[in-house]
Amino acid sequence: MCLFCQIINKEIPSQFVFEDEDMVAFKDIQPQAPVHLLIVPKKHIESLVQLSEVDSDLMGKLIYRAKLLAQENNIDKSGYKLIINTGPDSGQVVEHVHIHLLGGAPLAGLT
Ligand code: AMP
Ligand code: ZN
Repeated sequence: MCLFCQIINKEIPSQFVFEDEDMVAFKDIQPQAPVHLLIVPKKHIESLVQLSEVDSDLMGKLIYRAKLLAQENNIDKSGYKLIINTGPDSGQVVEHVHIHLLGGAPLAGLT
């Protein structure tokens, strides 16, 4: 089972900030910004490459949750980035699709 599936199943501890029937959100273990959360669907999809049309609504829900988490963390006014690494050239390490929510400091150099 992949790392994020183990986190979702609570077999590996992590700092959850949100959970519902579709997704979890937790703090990145190696934060690249003062706010660095990962928003992860419970369904195991390796990357956007494997995403099918039936799961496109699910991705919309994840983006909407990222927006709400940005508000909760008071970074909606200062700004933030959402990043979805996809495949080898992106540097994707965990093969379970996820959105990085990054903010709380100037991040113009972070693609
Ligand atoms: P990516 O490079 O897009 O696949 O990002 C994977 C992210 O998962 C990295 O930012 C890691 O720091 C993060 N990560 C790896 N292991 C854990 C863990 N056990 N708990 C929380 N975040 C993790
Ligand atoms: Zn998984």
